[in-house]
Amino acid sequence: VVRITGLHKSFGSLQVLRGIDLEVRRGDVVCIIGASGSGKSTLLRCVNLLEVPDSGQIVVHGTDLTDPDVDIDKARRGIGMVFQSFNLFSHLSVVDNLTIAQRKVLGRSKAESWNIANTNLNKVGLGDKVHSMPTQLSGGQQQRAAIARALSMDPDVMLFDEPTSALDPELVGDVLGVMRQLADEGMTMLVVTHEMQFAKEVADVVLFMDGGVVVEQGAPAQVIGDPQHERTRTFLSRVL
Ligand code: ATP
Ligand code: MG
Repeated sequence: VVRITGLHKSFGSLQVLRGIDLEVRRGDVVCIIGASGSGKSTLLRCVNLLEVPDSGQIVVHGTDLTDPDVDIDKARRGIGMVFQSFNLFSHLSVVDNLTIAQRKVLGRSKAESWNIANTNLNKVGLGDKVHSMPTQLSGGQQQRAAIARALSMDPDVMLFDEPTSALDPELVGDVLGVMRQLADEGMTMLVVTHEMQFAKEVADVVLFMDGGVVVEQGAPAQVIGDPQHERTRTFLSRVL
């Protein structure tokens, strides 16, 4: 579903991504781990074209995002993104947050978008919060609403950038539970996370990044359980 080859990205003289190769197959959950500043968010933002790569290729669902002729808006529709901050529209109710892009971007009718929103809110356990305002929700509920909003656009792949790191510890489990459920349903997911237990249990592939390169990637049992590189071991000894 996602194929990244030779991806480079610099900010001024700072080389943040220095040749990333990554393949995500349909239904795979890929967890990206690594120290602060290693380029994890930049990598996800390139996949969503929130950052424009300097060189390399990113193919999502058959569309080469780095092709200058590509219809970016169309390509982006297939990619759901959930950020650390929940960024719901604060002046819109929960259900309006979920229907607005469906109607404006996908052209769905009010009734259809409402049905889809409802289904996805139920799925993340927020069926009773349809008419709430975002400020009336806990952080964990807001993040689950943000996930439901992304799902309502029928994405081919979901990107998560540290979706639980802004949450109070007791709320983390609910959000990870929803993500685990999505993974079980076969959603293709690219997840930047510091939740090693989640990565261990849910990921098909774990990727350790350091200094803008992928140092190590493989099954969780391999990368987390039996890391081959000193840099991976040092990182894990600090987070585990
Ligand atoms: P964290 O775990 O703290 O979120 P990260 O691995 O996600 O870190 P990135 O956010 O990708 O790291 O940032 C990698 C480097 O790129 C950092 O040194 C950061 O300061 C720099 N950087 C990121 N975005 C920009 C930008 N828009 N302009 C300039 N520098 C940037
Ligand atoms: Mg980041």
